Amino acid sequence: MRNYKKIAKGDSPQLYHFCTFAFNMIKELQLRVEPQFAYNEQVLKETVSRQCGLDVRTITAVRTLKKSIDARQRTIFVNLTLRVFVNEQPPKDEFTRIEYQPVDGKPTVVVVGAGPGGLFAALHLIELGLRPIVLERGKNVHDRKVDIAAISRTHKIDPESNYSFGEGGAGAYSDGKLYTRSKKRGSTDRILNIFCQHGASPSILSDAHPHIGTDRLPRVIENIRNTIINCGGEVHFETLMTGFILQGNKVIGVEADHAGIKQQFMGPVILATGHSARDVYRYFAQSGFGIEAKALAVGCRLEHPSQLIDSIQYHNRNGRGKYLPAAEYSFVTQVNGRGVYSFCMCPGGFVVPAASGPQQIVVNGMSPSNRGSRWSNSGMVVETRIEDIAQSDADMKDPLVMMRFQEQLERDCWQAGNMRQTAPAQRMADFVNGRLSYDLPESSYSPGLISSPLHFWMPKFVTERLKQGFLQFGKSSHGFLTNDAVMIAVETRTSSPVRIVRDNETLQHIGLEGLFPCGEGAGYAGGIVSSAIDGERCADSVDAYLSPK
Ligand SMILES: Cc1cc2nc3c(=O)[nH]c(=O)nc-3n(C[C@H](O)[C@H](O)[C@H](O)COP(=O)(O)OP(=O)(O)OC[C@H]3O[C@@H](n4cnc5c(N)ncnc54)[C@H](O)[C@@H]3O)c2cc1C
Repeated sequence: MRNYKKIAKGDSPQLYHFCTFAFNMIKELQLRVEPQFAYNEQVLKETVSRQCGLDVRTITAVRTLKKSIDARQRTIFVNLTLRVFVNEQPPKDEFTRIEYQPVDGKPTVVVVGAGPGGLFAALHLIELGLRPIVLERGKNVHDRKVDIAAISRTHKIDPESNYSFGEGGAGAYSDGKLYTRSKKRGSTDRILNIFCQHGASPSILSDAHPHIGTDRLPRVIENIRNTIINCGGEVHFETLMTGFILQGNKVIGVEADHAGIKQQFMGPVILATGHSARDVYRYFAQSGFGIEAKALAVGCRLEHPSQLIDSIQYHNRNGRGKYLPAAEYSFVTQVNGRGVYSFCMCPGGFVVPAASGPQQIVVNGMSPSNRGSRWSNSGMVVETRIEDIAQSDADMKDPLVMMRFQEQLERDCWQAGNMRQTAPAQRMADFVNGRLSYDLPESSYSPGLISSPLHFWMPKFVTERLKQGFLQFGKSSHGFLTNDAVMIAVETRTSSPVRIVRDNETLQHIGLEGLFPCGEGAGYAGGIVSSAIDGERCADSVDAYLSPK
């Protein structure tokens, strides 16, 4: 059967492809269609059938290989690469499976931290025939949920079980956006496939902006833990690493504390403790183990009604309609030599209390898989360098200078929030005009907001740049700069304030043999996927360390 078609705009779907189908066939097609022709598999089958002159009953499956939304013009299009199965059965799995083999009796490797860095390191160690022992200071992902939910009611943060600490790390109750700036497509695809193998929707393999959703992540993390344990690895919760066991300058294991009982775990160490483990940074500084201060970005969460963002981004005052997802945005500019940009945008999401200890307010954002809340938020942050903070030569040399700055800002925020998790907030246009907000809009932030002059008490080098940034974003995106949006303080955990120095090739700590600083906390990753990729790289390096060629 042979059909040559190109459909004109307005004539339903556009198919820039010559359809050539044999009776039994699997074929790839590229489609550019309006959203109503692509919102589920059945509709896609009908679209392909119409365009290629195929009997819809012969199309056994349509698999989406790539999907992106083009909202640059008034008419919105979905760009698709499809695999069409005609009288052929599609393979059972839409992803590549890894067969994890038992590792009982194999050499052990200690992995500290069960965030994406640590968990993907552990899985990869198993692939390499090594036995991971994972230590996690927080609770399992299920019990952790109870502590997180309690924050809004009690205004208390459990210092071992919160949005940063516990199984799954900062990635567990996050948004689960899986985009990365990593150029290594192969590594990213591998991580996404492993997520699918553990229960994530295969749609993450095709979406231009893959997203798991905070409601689905915990199950995926549990499945990863089960793979580790079923293969003979170990996972210890509520087990805090307190120090290294050293033989000269070689790390041969760690000391840990579980419910007040001291324990030791032996083996080379992958240290994936995340950017909020300030006790770990202090331990390094006090012991004289190499670390250095690192630039980061600080600011606030900005929350708009999602309907407003949808209408701006989709050029339609009625919003997104039935077939489009909650709209995303991304802004970046330079103001006085520093980047000002949106960060971790959560369409249809929530702003959450993400502090990891007492006397702090830290906000972050996440969204469920349906991105169905009435709000859309993002971090709005300003690049902050060491020279912006340091007041003396001693500060310039202090590896903890950026961490202390973070701590101070979070404490100031907590004080402005009446020493509870009630977050200081200001309407967006009021902030730009230097006015206190008389009232605040309804917000998704469940511990509550309190009106506060952020323009007054946040650092000037941040607020002045944010103001300029907002003015520019408002010009390029009409309706974005509005008093219907609220700024919620403070966003400080955008990346690690410290780098744990490591050798570029061996990935070992410079100074301590057998120690592999890993993931975001070590300063070598930012986000779930890049931390997971770094976890795999560290596992490879431990393998090379244990069996030198
Ligand atoms: C609310 C929120 C939303 C986010 N949304 C996204 C998103 O959508 N997409 C994205 O890419 N990124 C997101 N992030 C960031 C992402 O979660 C992190 O970049 C990622 O989790 C970093 O991985 P990691 O393994 O390096 O560290 P972490 O995930 O921070 O894990 C470190 C782990 O080490 C444990 N630990 C620390 N110290 C010790 C110790 N001494 N002993 C034992 N265990 C210890 C901690 O409890 C923690 O579980 C979000 C973060 C938050 C908080």
